[in-house]
Amino acid sequence: MAKVCLDPGHAGGNIDPGAVNPETGLQEADVTLAVSKLVAKYLEAVGHEVILTRTESEQAETDSLAYRCNLANDWGADLMVSIHCNAAASAQANGTEIFTTLGETEGDRLATCVINQVTATFPDLRLRADWDDGDPDKEQNFYILRYTDAPAALLEMAFISNAQEAEKLADPAWQNEMSRAIARGITDYFFYGKN
Ligand SMILES: [Zn+2]
Repeated sequence: MAKVCLDPGHAGGNIDPGAVNPETGLQEADVTLAVSKLVAKYLEAVGHEVILTRTESEQAETDSLAYRCNLANDWGADLMVSIHCNAAASAQANGTEIFTTLGETEGDRLATCVINQVTATFPDLRLRADWDDGDPDKEQNFYILRYTDAPAALLEMAFISNAQEAEKLADPAWQNEMSRAIARGITDYFFYGKN
C-alpha cells in the first residue's frame, strides 16, 4: 500500500491559527487538523500508511513549510495533500478549490481525483475551477507543493470567512463527510494508476 502525507494547514493556536472567522472565532488550523486526522483514519483502515505534518493543536516546529516538506521527503511519501480553509475580504466569497504547481504534473491528476470526490459529495459547494488547461485545478507555485518531492495538491475546502460555509467547516458531521471524500479521492488516484 502507499505512503500518504497529509498536511494540516497552519501551526495552530497563537503561533499561526490560519484564517479565523470574525463572528465565531473558528480557526482554520483546528478545522484542518480535525479533517486531516479523519482522512488518516479512513486511509489507514484500508491499509495505507499515513503521516501528518502536524498532530498537535499548536505545534511550533510546524510553523515552517520547509519542516513539513522535509518530513514528507525524508519519509518517502508517495503523495501529499495539504488541507486548508479559504478566506477572503468579501464575506460573500464561497466555494471549494484545489491547487497544484504550474504545468502538467502527477499533482494535477491527484488534484482532479480529490476535487471530483469533493464536488460529488457536496453538490452545494461551488467549484472554483480553472479549466484553461483542461482540468479543474488552479495553479500556483505554493512552497508546500513546490518543495515536496511527491505529487502534491492543496485543497481549500471552503471559506471560513463566509458565515454559511464556516458553519459547515465547524460541523463534525460535515468534517467527517469531507474527510471521506478526500480519502476516496486519494484512493482513486492510486486505483486508476498512472496516465
Ligand atoms: Zn490556509
